[in-house]
Amino acid sequence: MHNALQGNHVRISEKLLRAYEQVNRENAERLRAGLEDADFVFIHDPQPAHLLQNCPKRRGKWIWRCHIDASHPYRPVWKYLQQFVSGYDASIFSLAGFAKSLPHPQYIIPPSIDPLSEKNMDLPGDEIDAVFGEFQLDPQRPLLLQVSRFDRFKDPLGVIQAFRIVKKFVPDQQLVLAGGGATDDPEGEIVLREVREAAAEDPDIHILLLPPDAHRKINALQRAADIILQKSIKEGFGLTVTEAMWKGKPVIGGDTGGIRLQVTNFNTGFRVSTPEGAALRIRYLLRHPQKMIEIGGKAREFVRDNFLLTRHLREYLTLILSLHYGAKDRIELG
Ligand code: UDP
Repeated sequence: MHNALQGNHVRISEKLLRAYEQVNRENAERLRAGLEDADFVFIHDPQPAHLLQNCPKRRGKWIWRCHIDASHPYRPVWKYLQQFVSGYDASIFSLAGFAKSLPHPQYIIPPSIDPLSEKNMDLPGDEIDAVFGEFQLDPQRPLLLQVSRFDRFKDPLGVIQAFRIVKKFVPDQQLVLAGGGATDDPEGEIVLREVREAAAEDPDIHILLLPPDAHRKINALQRAADIILQKSIKEGFGLTVTEAMWKGKPVIGGDTGGIRLQVTNFNTGFRVSTPEGAALRIRYLLRHPQKMIEIGGKAREFVRDNFLLTRHLREYLTLILSLHYGAKDRIELG
């Protein structure tokens, strides 16, 4: 469903759709008291969207929060999901361009990060330095990093291609592709195999499989890196971009979706569409270390102003107020 909503032609069999509905029915049974009594229920993404169908006695308002770029979905899959999503009282998208034709109010609220969480908090210098030893990286050489699930939309193969191009000019850099298996991502293993093949025997490409709770480790890797890539081809928002920018790192991101909200060229990072474009920007940054610091500093301030959880909380509370009072087109905040 995730791939289909982001535009891939994916046929989902009737059998799988029935399994989807059955799992949602079972989850609704498990969660019934909470779901039916709550004043507001936020349901994230397609996986649990069907829960609403199974809670006919619900009391509160239900909001569907879409995290992905569903602007050009594969129609049959969206039509199937739309019948469930339409029953919600409101939906939330990260960008105006992602909004859909739905019979309820739609809110544009980008995600955010928590600067005090393990993923984003300041770390002692020795904890950051320790990742070099732990993952056999050389602290003296430039370190490029992409943190992502092994998913084609994240274009890990494009990152390897960009790395190989840059290596012809700047031979001493090293690349880390850090990811982990998402339990709801059946394609991950196949993509990981492709990535391993593409990296072949290059000792400067490090593929790290980290456990799902390795937040502090990812934090340290992001802080240890010189340049952070997120070369996505489709991206709902790209929290990894926000995380890197918060750490004052220059990001080279794919020119798509939510990355466009965060990264502007020569200002808070670079946006690229091809491996060649990424290679060009990597070379530029490596040649201009002062620019890395400048861009990283602007990136951090941009996140402070726009993508911390305080802003997110204010917008969620505004949305709740608006649904509670049935505001049609504007809400006055005292
Ligand atoms: N992440 C993680 N471990 C991994 C890969 C990703 O903890 O192996 C985290 C990453 O730090 C970020 C989130 O998962 O907080 C991914 O969010 P993003 O919006 O970048 O992409 P998504 O996976 O939701 O498409």
